[in-house]
Amino acid sequence: MLSISSSTTTTSSVGPTNNRTHQCPNSLSPPSLFSLSRRNTRKTLHVRYNRTTNSNTAVSCGTAVLARASNEHILDPANVRDAKLKIAIIGFGNFGQFLAKTIVKQGHRVLAYSRSDYSRAAKDISVEYFSDPDDLCEEHPEVILLCTSILSTEKVLRSLPLHRLRRSTLFVDVLSVKEFPRSLFLQVLPKDFDILCTHPMFGPDSGKNGWGGLPFVFDKVRVGSDPTRTHRVETFLTIFRDAGCRMVEMTCAEHDKHAAGSQFITHMMGRVLEKLGLENTPINTKGYESLLNLVDNTARDSFELFYGLFLYNKNAMEQLDRMDWAFEMVKKQLSGHLHDLVRKQLMLETNNDPIKGEKMDRLLLPPPSENLPQIVPSADVTEQEFVAVNGSRLSTQC
Ligand code: NAP
Repeated sequence: MLSISSSTTTTSSVGPTNNRTHQCPNSLSPPSLFSLSRRNTRKTLHVRYNRTTNSNTAVSCGTAVLARASNEHILDPANVRDAKLKIAIIGFGNFGQFLAKTIVKQGHRVLAYSRSDYSRAAKDISVEYFSDPDDLCEEHPEVILLCTSILSTEKVLRSLPLHRLRRSTLFVDVLSVKEFPRSLFLQVLPKDFDILCTHPMFGPDSGKNGWGGLPFVFDKVRVGSDPTRTHRVETFLTIFRDAGCRMVEMTCAEHDKHAAGSQFITHMMGRVLEKLGLENTPINTKGYESLLNLVDNTARDSFELFYGLFLYNKNAMEQLDRMDWAFEMVKKQLSGHLHDLVRKQLMLETNNDPIKGEKMDRLLLPPPSENLPQIVPSADVTEQEFVAVNGSRLSTQC
């Protein structure tokens, strides 16, 4: 029997600062994990073991039992919140810098590396910038946070000197597609590395006034059962939880299905409307304002990001086809309606019944106006007459 208490009459004491001493010899755990606040390092967890009930298990798996107890302790939300991580951001562009600001504010140590030189931008937000990935990896960050473009992720990941990292490093990505990085990580990363796939579903624009209520999707793809590993993942997730995000745990496959039907369509519509060159008018409606905002929000993201949403989400093509279909349907609906009106008008013109004619009159389009468009007769019309939408019968040469 295992009991946990805070009394001093116990046989073993387990605290986050001496995690390594109670792990099975063959277990892999992050060697130097978290710098805990003083309040937590002082706090001691006591474990009492009753040898009479389960002594054999105790001898062979005593360390596992202790680890479980330790797990309960370090997963305590207060402890998770107080733990600080050393996080390396790879890809320090628009989104990487945006995330870094909040992570730094929460007291974590942030290192960064990118293809371009962002040393000045990094300094401004208290991030340590490395122009060489080897140097960065030799700092042994506990978390590698990949913020590269979707298209460059594989190349960047394969170029990282993984051998310089601690063998239980936690890899996290923030790509806007999820099945792709999941399978890439499983394929490229050594088995000892933990994997957390995430998608903060907001950006520098939508999250500029804080992350409260904004969705954060995550999938714990591969996390070792060792308490230090689970604790590390929870500590990372707490960054977003504490910033007020709505935490949504779902598989990468589920994410991609939902994202194609929502996020990809949003970006697609934004890009299409951008091509129309919408302009501010003196009589903007609320609806129109929201379209202008949509264009603004989506056009600010790189085209590479948009292309990645399409190319690396297998559900995106289907959504594109559905949009084509929907566009055609609405067009047909409109022209079908117009056709009905014209047909009724034709019937009225050929109907001599005065009573019926009077009834039909109410269905006619408004009186003629100079600018109203005319319905172009189809190519096979041979009679030298066609009906204009203004309701009068015109005579013309084809
Ligand atoms: P992005 O254009 O998707 O990515 C820019 C980043 O990728 C920069 O750090 C850039 O490095 C790096 N990069 C691009 N091509 C590269 C190459 N050939 N080799 C090495 N690095 C390369 O724009 P982003 O908005 O910053 O997005 C970054 C990631 O966050 C993407 O995966 C995106 O899906 C995800 N995300 C973005 C948002 C958002 O609102 N923007 C929201 C959620 C998730 P350099 O700058 O050094 O060239």
